[in-house]
Amino acid sequence: MTQRLAVLGSTGSIGVNTLDVITRLKDDFKVVALSADSNIKALAEQARKFHPDLICVGNESLAKKIKKSIPAGTRVLFGLDGLKEIVSTQDIDTVVAAISGTFCLIPLVEAVKHRKKIALANKEALVSAGPIIMKLAKANGVRIIPIDSEHSAIFQCLEGRAGSLSKIYLTGSGGPLLNVDRNKFSKLSKKDVLNHPKWKMGKKISVDSATMMNKGLEIIEAKYLFGVDDKYIEVLIHPEAVIHSMIELTDGSVFAQLGVPDMRLPIQYALTFPLRAGSAIERLDFTKIGKLAFFKPDLQKFPCLALARHAASAGGTAPGVLCASDEEVVKSYLEGDMKFTDIPKIIEKVLSRHKNITERELTIYDILEADRWAREEVRSICCH
Ligand code: NDP
Ligand code: MG
Repeated sequence: MTQRLAVLGSTGSIGVNTLDVITRLKDDFKVVALSADSNIKALAEQARKFHPDLICVGNESLAKKIKKSIPAGTRVLFGLDGLKEIVSTQDIDTVVAAISGTFCLIPLVEAVKHRKKIALANKEALVSAGPIIMKLAKANGVRIIPIDSEHSAIFQCLEGRAGSLSKIYLTGSGGPLLNVDRNKFSKLSKKDVLNHPKWKMGKKISVDSATMMNKGLEIIEAKYLFGVDDKYIEVLIHPEAVIHSMIELTDGSVFAQLGVPDMRLPIQYALTFPLRAGSAIERLDFTKIGKLAFFKPDLQKFPCLALARHAASAGGTAPGVLCASDEEVVKSYLEGDMKFTDIPKIIEKVLSRHKNITERELTIYDILEADRWAREEVRSICCH
């Protein structure tokens, strides 16, 4: 049966790759809704190609502008209400959540409440509100299938083995600064920071890869997604980016998922799960790869990873504060002239000022309030 899809964040790196996968598997999928924030040129092009029933843009004036360049049968929505309408549409069965940042939280929660199958690329929502989202998913019988490559790997390795899990090895290429001396970090240009050796991604996640905050967020993502205590999640630097993560079982056996570093692979699996489809993606050539290396991350060089570890074990609102302050700091870094080395310092300051709520079950309002507070703190630090 044809799966009817909403792709939220369709103009981003994951969104574009998702539409590429769908184009190849076109008989199995129908794009019913697409969304972007401000890139209406790209969204209009996608609408002309896929003829969705609904599209959503960031605000009303963008909605007015895009109307002239889309097919007559496509209705234009805007803002959070527009996204909520999309995820509650009966005619949609799968939501690809590929909006960046914690802004994705509310559309994701609403999609789960409306019992959509979720193909989840966004990690910030899960990091901030993991226990709430996972509880809601369980109560509604919703399966959340990860797109993030490491979590897709773990998800695939766990199939039929979850009961015997003893450890997760979360692999990471080490990002663009793996072999750059720490003393040179304060002089790095944005181009150096955004220049990831293995993956082509959006700007925010590319900066997170350079600071290794991305790996830190992924520890928390894995903790909540798979219900595993963070002390059983070990980060391994693996520069070849061939193994996308591994699991160790109680008897010492280790399972890994391997493949070329191409996001279309985990995206396709999230869409076709539990089935597999053919793909035109390049195959691994082991004789060319030759050797695979693994080593421990340097927490002195990448303090964001240590901050994320701390937030992971603290739980409560700490992961949300970590995530929101990182998002706000990275935004300032990308837009202004902040030094790369200031990123972890500001996040650490915000976390140290935060009064964590751990003593009771959190609500979505607690998360949103912690998110708002963290962003304000970052802005006040950056402005002084
Ligand atoms: P991009 O920045 O490339 O794309 C983000 C998408 O979300 C765009 O379509 C953008 O619209 C839309 N968007 C951003 N902010 C808003 C907003 N406030 N309201 C509505 N729409 C918004 O990000 P990526 O594709 O790189 O990443 C998306 C998510 O997937 C992130 O959470 C990231 O951590 C995760 N992820 C990404 C990977 C990758 O390879 N890129 C790998 C693993 C996870 P517009 O184009 O108009 O700005
Ligand atoms: Mg990842």
